Amino acid sequence: MPCIFCSIIEGKANAKIFYQDDNVVVFYDIAPKAPIHLLICPKQHFTDFISAPPEVRSRLADTVQKVSDMLGDRGKDFRVQINNGPGSGQIVFHLHYHFLAWG
Ligand code: AMP
Ligand code: ZN
Repeated sequence: MPCIFCSIIEGKANAKIFYQDDNVVVFYDIAPKAPIHLLICPKQHFTDFISAPPEVRSRLADTVQKVSDMLGDRGKDFRVQINNGPGSGQIVFHLHYHFLAWG
């Protein structure tokens, strides 16, 4: 099974990209659960949070800060969610942090 988020990162599948750099990509969730619902992903494929090394997790956390800053007032109050494993509701097995904001 090809990974849908890897396809987005490779430009082979469509997504509305909010931000990217050499290591991370941030794009809009296709089925938003809040007025602003972004997915923050490492460009390198990791199945889930628990299988990613600490530096990758930290980079994603730094990107949470960056996204909040980029959104200004609209990104001041937010929720970050990580689903790890099928029992938690994870359905895409490429590590991502959900960034939800109501601003
Ligand atoms: P999770 O339950 O944590 O695995 O969340 C996966 C998220 O990816 C869900 O909120 C989906 O709506 C979202 N999603 C799945 N496919 C796409 C896609 N092609 N583009 C953007 N978001 C997607
Ligand atoms: Zn992937």
